[in-house]
Amino acid sequence: MGEILVLAEHRQGVVRDITFEMLGAGRALAASRGAQLTALLLGQGLGELANALSAHADVVEVVEDARLAQFSSDAYQEVLARVIRERTPLVCLIGHTAYGMELAPSLATELGVPLIADATCVELEEGLIRAERPVYGGKVRARVRSKGPAAIVTMQAGAFAAADERATAGQIVHSDALLSGEQTRKRFVGFVEAVLGDVDIAQSDIVVSVGRGIGDPKNLPLVEALARALGGVLSCSRPVVDKKWLPKTRQVGISGKTVSPKLYLAVGISGAFQHLSGIKSSTTIVAVNKDPKAPIFRVADYGIVGDLFTVVPALTERIAKAKSGK
Ligand SMILES: Cc1cc2nc3c(=O)[nH]c(=O)nc-3n(C[C@H](O)[C@H](O)[C@H](O)COP(=O)(O)OP(=O)(O)OC[C@H]3O[C@@H](n4cnc5c(N)ncnc54)[C@H](O)[C@@H]3O)c2cc1C
Repeated sequence: MGEILVLAEHRQGVVRDITFEMLGAGRALAASRGAQLTALLLGQGLGELANALSAHADVVEVVEDARLAQFSSDAYQEVLARVIRERTPLVCLIGHTAYGMELAPSLATELGVPLIADATCVELEEGLIRAERPVYGGKVRARVRSKGPAAIVTMQAGAFAAADERATAGQIVHSDALLSGEQTRKRFVGFVEAVLGDVDIAQSDIVVSVGRGIGDPKNLPLVEALARALGGVLSCSRPVVDKKWLPKTRQVGISGKTVSPKLYLAVGISGAFQHLSGIKSSTTIVAVNKDPKAPIFRVADYGIVGDLFTVVPALTERIAKAKSGK
């Protein structure tokens, strides 16, 4: 039968989106092999989180221990290494997040199993993992295949659709942590919240992004009005952040955020690969650019070649009219 193991990531009492995305990908893998999808939940006081996850996995395995109350890669590694040794899952999925990047390489080394990092696509083929991952900063996508079974894969945030709720809740089981002793190498000191900014662009279904083509910060309201008319949020390319026209929290791309909205509208953005790597899982991409040869048109589903100062107000007006039914 086999098992697909997903390490549930949570922070301050909230299951993180990456967990549901991994469960979405994990469910497809499990279906392809008739395997069991297990969410492994480590921590303390996890009742509500376990209930939430049971709508998305066949089994939620809860491991509670005071030493797991806060993420500790050492303690997590000890539990995961034991679970993987005992059960040899077909694959163990971990978020390609700050937590996962700290944990996965060390875990894979301890177990002597293959690690595929930052996967954007995962399949099982004859018991081995086939995956795609970006290399050279996202310029190239490499297709990789694990050399052995029980591979560990870290999954790129925003690259997989979140799992829908199942009709019947999965089973919740409790296991002992069986930690060997106190974790002394690292100590949790406290959370320092990052400045989140006024909106989380990764959460919106409609993202309107502005690039250097806007020319001057005084022109930003033009694109902001379009975002508002569409019911979306305003994001940007890196030069707009570098010039301090918008905060870093609005930047899309390899050194900014990955977004996967239903609609991504790029205004005055050339389409450098560092930008494109942050938008590739958008459902529909629309580009407005005065240069017909701009690389953004190679990935856009719809392209408007024209001056943004003409096109954007016209679009905003048409959308407002359509909404008011005129
Ligand atoms: C390590 C590294 C990390 C990076 N990370 C990121 C990242 O996360 N995100 C990111 O975006 N970039 C990133 N970059 C920068 C990236 O390489 C590009 O420089 C950047 O994406 C270009 O931004 P842009 O498209 O807004 O500007 P430009 O490339 O200057 O393009 C502006 C576009 O606007 C068009 N235009 C100008 N005027 C008008 C007008 N009136 N009407 C219509 N169109 C007009 C032009 O034709 C042009 O295509 C990174 C670079 C490096 C080296």
